[in-house]
Amino acid sequence: MKMELDKDLFCVVGLGGSGRAAVRLLCSQGARVRGYDARAPKDLGDAAQELKKLGVELFTGELEATVFEGVSHVVLSPGVPPRAVRDLAEAAGAELLGELELSSRFLPGTFAAIAGTNGKSTVTQLLGDMLERGARPVFVGGNLGTPLSEAVAGPASGSDGLLVVEVSSFQLETVRDFHAHVAVLLNITDDHLDRYDDFADYAAAKGRVFAAQTADDFALVPEGDAFLTQLAAVGDAKVVHFGGEHSLVRIEGDVLLSTDGAFRFPLSDLAVTGRHNAIDACAAASAALLLGAPVEDIAAALREFRGLPHRMQLVCERRGVRYLDDSKATNVGAAAAALDGFLGSAGKVVLIAGGRDKGGSYAPLVEPLSKVGRAIVCLGEAAAKMERALGETDLPIRRTASMAEAVRVAASLAEPGDTVLLSPACSSYDMFVSYAHRGNAFAGAVRALPDAAPGEGR
Ligand code: ADP
Repeated sequence: MKMELDKDLFCVVGLGGSGRAAVRLLCSQGARVRGYDARAPKDLGDAAQELKKLGVELFTGELEATVFEGVSHVVLSPGVPPRAVRDLAEAAGAELLGELELSSRFLPGTFAAIAGTNGKSTVTQLLGDMLERGARPVFVGGNLGTPLSEAVAGPASGSDGLLVVEVSSFQLETVRDFHAHVAVLLNITDDHLDRYDDFADYAAAKGRVFAAQTADDFALVPEGDAFLTQLAAVGDAKVVHFGGEHSLVRIEGDVLLSTDGAFRFPLSDLAVTGRHNAIDACAAASAALLLGAPVEDIAAALREFRGLPHRMQLVCERRGVRYLDDSKATNVGAAAAALDGFLGSAGKVVLIAGGRDKGGSYAPLVEPLSKVGRAIVCLGEAAAKMERALGETDLPIRRTASMAEAVRVAASLAEPGDTVLLSPACSSYDMFVSYAHRGNAFAGAVRALPDAAPGEGR
């Protein structure tokens, strides 16, 4: 549906950071705007106040047909599942579009979009770091971080702008014209099966990142993954691979190498460890090359990257045991990748896992745990299901009721040279407000262990 800003009525659904950014963007363009959130006004923080100042009508409580009465476009925040509002929007004859689709319509620059179950934030940050060394203005954000709507008032808003955006499957469900010059799909493993009918449904949403690409664009997927390669071919973009023998950037021994040899980067210069980080580096370097970044900039950004918080982050070492916070591992694929990173190391891993179950299987953890595990400490709502699935490992499994207890038990099971790894394979919402809250609770519990040296940890 075409937008006519002077005539249309927009309703922004979900008034968190991104929804509010969309409201501001629409108001700045002179559009008529309405805001809706299920939370009561008193629970919206200063959003209610801000909307009032902008002259935006606010609806709260249960979503009813009256909210969309007269509305021509329903704008979804990234965190709101589209299916929750699709029927009502349709009944009102309104176009349903995400905040990503909306804001991209105001941004004539060049887009790079990063999708996948795991590694999106890492690759988005890395690619942003690589491009920021060049002369063109760069925006880095999207699903997590700064909402894309904010780019419209920023330095990357012109046609010379480079926009590096992390995109979620929810956001991709509502794209139509949005297309990136370089679209990356890193991986797809079980996640959010509590929100999607099945894996195929979840994968189809992610595949939409390629749907509107043109013959001038690039679809970047891991080499050797037939399923992702097939998804990449749904649009008209040229399919390019990363990470394999015939890829634009490959891993050869301990070195990242581009096809023409111009880009060469020793993995020993990368501060973040594990094969998944090497793969993420490959993906980011490939995207940067496709966007014309100089190889020196790519190498310099990789050299300076220190990793993001709560992704395999070292809290401290205590009595010869390392404590790693990988709280952002909110699904099985991420936890399996974390464990795979210990293959070949001398010490073993005491895994702390569990939280809110998302409906997938924990079976992919059995093999890596059997190889690198010392013991398993389960926590949270998923504990019983996890115990059943991981029983096959023959490792000692202990169930605990709090993060403090989990850390104490893990510390008692670890031997010098081992690692205590919080890599939960579940979301945090059963006991914490976010993965960051959970990671901080872990770090706090580690610091509270008896005999931890003063000032250790974060
Ligand atoms: P996302 O934004 O997709 O959640 P992050 O970069 O925040 O991705 O990383 C989330 C989790 O996934 C972390 O535990 C991280 O160690 C792990 N991870 C990062 N890259 C990969 C990858 N390529 N494959 C599997 N797991 C990964």
